[in-house]
Amino acid sequence: MREMVLAVARQGVFTPLWSARILEEWRRAAVKLGPEGVAQAEAEIALLRAAWPQDRLGPPPKHMLSGVPAHVDGRMLKISAAAGGHVINRDRMWHYTEGVKNWDPIWPAHGIRILPGPSPLWFDATGRRLPPPCLPGFDTLATLREILATGQEYSWFILTQKVIKKEFALSGSEQNPDFTSKRWREVLRGRVLTGRNAPAPVEAFKTQGEDFITAPDLGQLVAGMNRLAGNSLLDPARLHAQIAARDAQVDNPFTKDAQLMAIHAARNYRGDRLIRTARPHKFLDPQNGPLIAVRLHILTRKTLGGLQTDLDSRMIGADGAPLPGLFAAGEVAGFGGGGYHGYNALEGTFLGGCLFSGRNAGRSHHVA
Ligand SMILES: Cc1cc2nc3c(=O)[nH]c(=O)nc-3n(C[C@H](O)[C@H](O)[C@H](O)COP(=O)(O)OP(=O)(O)OC[C@H]3O[C@@H](n4cnc5c(N)ncnc54)[C@H](O)[C@@H]3O)c2cc1C
Repeated sequence: MREMVLAVARQGVFTPLWSARILEEWRRAAVKLGPEGVAQAEAEIALLRAAWPQDRLGPPPKHMLSGVPAHVDGRMLKISAAAGGHVINRDRMWHYTEGVKNWDPIWPAHGIRILPGPSPLWFDATGRRLPPPCLPGFDTLATLREILATGQEYSWFILTQKVIKKEFALSGSEQNPDFTSKRWREVLRGRVLTGRNAPAPVEAFKTQGEDFITAPDLGQLVAGMNRLAGNSLLDPARLHAQIAARDAQVDNPFTKDAQLMAIHAARNYRGDRLIRTARPHKFLDPQNGPLIAVRLHILTRKTLGGLQTDLDSRMIGADGAPLPGLFAAGEVAGFGGGGYHGYNALEGTFLGGCLFSGRNAGRSHHVA
């Protein structure tokens, strides 16, 4: 967005002026975790909690990780509202359910979202396997509801080394140096030809991330999970029964286990079979180990609501009329209009609404 705005400025339409405050924000975004940043993150999380959709999701979690830098604080919503803009659908929030604490944080409470393939087994904090459609990467908001209904704010993945190697990706450009460098040979080498290891950033999380536990058998794994959670909610026998029931379906080509059916469907596509979806295997067979558990936190990312606009991205005021000379595009405008996605959203479609609403603003004949 900044590049687009600056390109317009270069056409002589306006002269950009950077306030001391925004420059300071950028500086701070580059600085590692510090007490000032922690206070700022807490203030942002307090704002989120105030607008939490209690009617649809129950009470807000007490503890969340932050999926955006400290300077992404929603302040422009308040400033635009003070200038007469109308903010709508604030309660349409988008939080991820697969957040892990960054062992090497860049901003306060820095959480990373795991972009999982379809194979990890997903359990709530009490050790109950989540029902469909709450499968990895399937339905974020349904899974959020399911997790919070337990009264706990975290859940668990259980998987094997074979699954983490092929299926774990981490969200954020700094976690994907091979993709961002566009060196496709490196991508293939890192994800296909690394023996038993996952790509280096994923292995670093596995060994250094506080939410990851590795163990040679389920008994030791569950003991580690209870230790990490600081309770004894997980019963090894109950977990064993559920994983064994799933494993028993691996050899059944007509299985009705929804997760295994999804894995077979994914592997029908060559790209997924090659670098995204592990061949189905038995988790309790030590040959496929070690076993890995990951504690998953709720990770805040964005609101799907925002500044109301018309189709030309002109900001709408409280009286329903466009405000002359004020435009809003991108995430601050709910990706367009103030809530382009409705209550739900299709993963990864956010940039499209940002570009579309920016393009409409740029093309509008209302721009002087
Ligand atoms: C880790 C992560 C992963 C994501 N992954 C995906 C994905 O896979 N697919 C997808 O579709 N979406 C994804 N998103 C969401 C998507 O990246 C954002 O919604 C989108 O980038 C927002 O674009 P924007 O232009 O509206 O805002 P921004 O990209 O936040 O741009 C706003 C710009 O304005 C600047 N700015 C702020 N205040 C001022 C000021 N006062 N003066 C001048 N400049 C100012 C900021 O520095 C910034 O450069 C992800 C987001 C994150 C954080």
